[in-house]
Order: sequence, then structure tokens, then C-alpha cells
Amino acid sequence: MADSKLTMDKIVNLCKNRGFVYPGSDIYGGFANTWDFGPVGVELKNNIKRAWWKKFVQESPDTYGVDAAILMNPRVWEASGHVASFGDPKMDCKNCKQRFRADTLIEAHSKGAVAAEAMTNEEMEKYIEEHDIKCPHCGVRNWTPIRKFNPMFVTSRGTLEEGSDKVYLRPETCQGEYVNFLNVQRTARAKVPFAIAQIGKSFRNEITPGNFLFRTVEFEQMELQKFCKESESMDIYVDYKARALDFVKALGLSEENLRYHDHDKLAHYAKAACDIQYKFPMGWQELNGIHHRGVWDLSRHQEYSGKTMQYIDPFTNEKYVPNVIEYSIGADRLTLALLCEAYEEQALEKETRVVMHFHPAIAPYKVAVLPLQKNLSEKAKEVYALLSKKFMCDYDETGSIGKRYRRQDEIGTPFCVTVDFDTLEDGSVTVRDRDSMEQIRIKIDEVKKYVEEKIEF
Ligand code: ATP
Repeated sequence: MADSKLTMDKIVNLCKNRGFVYPGSDIYGGFANTWDFGPVGVELKNNIKRAWWKKFVQESPDTYGVDAAILMNPRVWEASGHVASFGDPKMDCKNCKQRFRADTLIEAHSKGAVAAEAMTNEEMEKYIEEHDIKCPHCGVRNWTPIRKFNPMFVTSRGTLEEGSDKVYLRPETCQGEYVNFLNVQRTARAKVPFAIAQIGKSFRNEITPGNFLFRTVEFEQMELQKFCKESESMDIYVDYKARALDFVKALGLSEENLRYHDHDKLAHYAKAACDIQYKFPMGWQELNGIHHRGVWDLSRHQEYSGKTMQYIDPFTNEKYVPNVIEYSIGADRLTLALLCEAYEEQALEKETRVVMHFHPAIAPYKVAVLPLQKNLSEKAKEVYALLSKKFMCDYDETGSIGKRYRRQDEIGTPFCVTVDFDTLEDGSVTVRDRDSMEQIRIKIDEVKKYVEEKIEF
């Protein structure tokens, strides 16, 4: 549905004014690249996470969930290669001292047409010069050479011996699954192929500013690692590409705003990699990644921990380190895509209404209960008490009914239930549909079932 004239400013303003997302530490003037989810936003994001978990864990019998610690033994990050080499190509503007990612600048400048991740630092520097790419902050082109910058946040843990007290906030969640490969396999009696899934916070000292929830310094990832035999690994990779796309389409992202982006340049251990990109207001950008990581991760942990990561096939007794297919999507980035997709400014006869067409399964509130007049509030509160046992409901008795409908449209509430004087007589209410604005009359005890059927995912 996404509005083609949509700007990020419109989304940011709506989010701030309607309680989806506020700037982090707002009363102190904010804190760059941090955002706080408000009462409406937290519901939206939780619903998105629940939908993901339902599809990829609850309805996937070979997938097991974990919730691993954020702080991990620092050796984990040596094994993963993050301590030695994790880093994005960064450049500083010599004029205003802001730091940017060179690949992001090129991709933004070319509106996603150039895959900068496949370029060397020298190629990127040349491209930036030839295309006269200026600092987005001060408008001057006066760059330092590109350098790698390690975006892991470092903190310290007092109880460790002096000199070895450095710990990291995890920059990705997947290591929590790799280190639990043996635990989960044993306790769940899992047979390869199986997956371990997790939803949790990651932290990256990202410097590139802007684009709201797209790139933040702390964010949630929803991801899984599928452990499999090499011979079946490519089929599984292809299957997750399809499942990942189906999932975001089922949540409401439209086909014309989605595309696969297969990587040309792969990490030395990877066998294939693909992003799904979404057409955000600033252009095509990565929404999620699907990676065939070979045996790299488990082999490295085998080497660094000294524990065997071999799986013994119970039927053939074959011993091997499984291949890994990774599927990872940012919960905040997906929330942003769904906000953009849902937004519509709809011209009505006498006014323009802003309406968020969320899939009912992820809508923050499923129902708003609205007494037509204040003196109907007792009955309306009864209806609210009944429905809120089942769904997140809003209750609003202030302002004209038209204004109240508009407020609910702006936060994407799929159904408004209006209590009027007839309700007192016949026990029925008016249910108004957000998208069509059509109204039907149904009995109070039928509302629950009516809504339940529509919000199924
Ligand atoms: P990008 O190239 O955009 O930095 P990435 O390739 O580093 O992303 P991964 O490490 O594969 O991303 O992370 C998987 C997913 O996590 C991404 O597809 C994205 O949805 C999300 N993600 C990564 N970094 C951030 C961030 N700084 N803010 C919000 N979400 C993020």
C-alpha cells in the first residue's frame, strides 16, 4: 500500500505524536541513534516479534528457542572474528568531524543501484570522488581515507582479574545459538537438521546518523541458525530465502516494495548470501539477511573452546561438524518497514485522514471502545472489561466520535466498537472497520469471535 510520496519525517512525526516511538533521553535533547518505544509502539513491536516466533518456532517443529546472555565470555568474540576484524568502512568528514560509512553513502547516493559492499576501500574512495559525494551533515567533500572501525561496545566486569576485565556487549545474537549447539541438541534430543532461534538485543557502535529505526546503536534481532548436513544445506538455504520473503509479505509488506539481493562478494567461509531489501523512503535497503555460513562458526568454536562440535548421526554413526544456514532480521528495522508500508493519507470528501493499514495481527490495539456520549461510559467500560481480557483494547471518551475515529485510524486500530443508546436496549454495538470505514451492528457477545477471526496470523 505504501504511499509513494512518503517521507521519513512524516513517519517520525506520527510516531512521536501518537506514542509509537520517541527520541531516546528526550528531555536531555535526545541521544543520537537511540529511540524509546512508547505505549503504542511497544505493542506493535511485540506483536511483530510474536508473529515471527509463531511462524519460525511455534509452527516449526525442528526449531528450538533460546534466550542467551548478552554478555558472553570474551573468547567468543575472538572465535567469531569480531575482535580481530569486525569493522565497517568508515570515513570522517574533516570539515565537521562527523563519521560515516562509505558503503552506506554510496548506496544512498546511487539509490541502492550500486552494491558498495562488493567494492574495495580504494574503489569506494574513487567512486566517492568521481561522483562528488559530499558530507550529508555539512555539505562539504573533504574526507579522510576509509578506515575500519570496530563497532563493538566495550564494558568492564569488575570481578575478573586485572587485565582481563574487558567484556563486550554482543554485536549479534547468533553467537548465543552457536555456543548452545551442544546443549540444545542434547536436551531437546534434536536431530540434524534442526535450528536454534532467538530474539534479543544487539549493540553496535554505529556512527552513520539518520533514518530513524533503520540503523540504531541498540536493536533487536530475530534470527535462527539451522544446523545441517552439507549435502542438504543449499536446499535449506533456498527454502529460508522463500520463507523469509513469505513472512514479510504475510505481515503486510507488498511485493513491489520487496526484492532479493544476492551477494556477489562473499566472506571467505560463506557459500551463499542474500538480503531481502525493502523500498524504504530513502531507497532500497537491507531488511534481512540469509547466509550460508558453511562450517565456519562451529569449527571456530571447536578450535577456541576445545570442545568438539561434531554431531554423530544416530542412524549412520557418521561424525561431522554441521553447516549453518542463518536467517536474521532486525525487529526494529521490520517495524520501520511496516510503519512505512501501512501509512496512507487518504483524501475523503471534506478532509484528509491519515490511516495506518497494519495487518490486524500486529496492530497495537485490536479494538477501541468508544461510548457515543459520556453518560454511556458505564456500559462502554463493561464492554472494555470484556474485550480487554482477550485483546489489547483502547478506551476513549473524549472529543467527537469523528475525531476519536481519526485518532484510532492514525494508530491503526482495525475495529472501533461504539456503544450508543440502542446498546442499552438491545445489547448490540456498532463495529467500524478501519480500512473500509463500513459499520455493522452486532451483539456484544459476538464481538470477541468477530475480532478473533480477523486478527489471525
Ligand atoms: P547493514 O549492512 O544494514 O549494517 P548487516 O549486514 O550488518 O546490516 P547483519 O549483521 O546481517 O546486518 O544483521 C542482520 C539484521 O539485523 C539486518 O538485516 C538488520 O535487519 C538488522 N540490523 C543490523 N544492524 C542494525 C542496526 N544498526 N540497527 C537496526 N537493525 C540492524
